[in-house]
Amino acid sequence: MTNLQIQSINLSQIQSIECPDEQKNQICSIFQQIDSEESDNKPDVLTSEFSITKFLSYCKQLLKENYDNFMQEINNFSNELQDDEIQLVVNGSYDKDQISYKGITHFRYNDCPKDKLISIGNCRVHKDLADAFKEMQTAAKKDGIDLNIVSGFRSIADQRDRVFIKKFKDPKNPTPEEFKERLKWSAPSEYSEHHTGLAIDINSTETSFENTKAFDWLKNNAHKFGFEQSFIKDNKQGLGNEPWHWRFVGKNNEYADIFKEARNFNSNE
Ligand SMILES: [Zn+2]
Repeated sequence: MTNLQIQSINLSQIQSIECPDEQKNQICSIFQQIDSEESDNKPDVLTSEFSITKFLSYCKQLLKENYDNFMQEINNFSNELQDDEIQLVVNGSYDKDQISYKGITHFRYNDCPKDKLISIGNCRVHKDLADAFKEMQTAAKKDGIDLNIVSGFRSIADQRDRVFIKKFKDPKNPTPEEFKERLKWSAPSEYSEHHTGLAIDINSTETSFENTKAFDWLKNNAHKFGFEQSFIKDNKQGLGNEPWHWRFVGKNNEYADIFKEARNFNSNE
């Protein structure tokens, strides 16, 4: 788990810092220690729960004197990746209503109650969404457009096991930029609209879906059935453009409250 941090401070960066060689070498050896597979000789600060704050005070202690430049570098790094984000990476879950990372924001959602879920094709969705979708599907059909749900409800546990672990931990050791890119296209567990059973992917999960007649039809008509596109191009949440992903707020906004943080965040007011 600590390899993630190593990725962002490279040894040559440390070597370029102005401080006596002895201290520099000491710090370099700490980093190498974190990076090594053998865990037996790691200082305590690096084994149990890794925390940037603990690590920084450990460095300070080790250096004994005040090497401003060095601390500045380390602080720059720790600003990039806060303990909170490390928690997110390490545990795949995170105890906040909203997470923000380098301009990307996700909101937290609860799992849809089991007794509200029904199957439609190969997917499960909230039963009220299912009714509205069938109605919308019939209306689209009359206009010669086929609409199908390709992804519906995903539980928090599903998201953790199938999406988060796969996309966020493999390949291992993402740099902050790579991590940001992953967050842009995938929500960590607890932060996907799909948990609610009130969000669906329609027909495809390719960006080219926005060039289809089906997407045009949805843009013009989906709102009549209580659906809205969650992540439009250049959305304020910083997420990827997902023309296929629609949430169900209800014809009379019955479910709008569930998405209120995201809706307020993206509104222009
Ligand atoms: Zn989706």
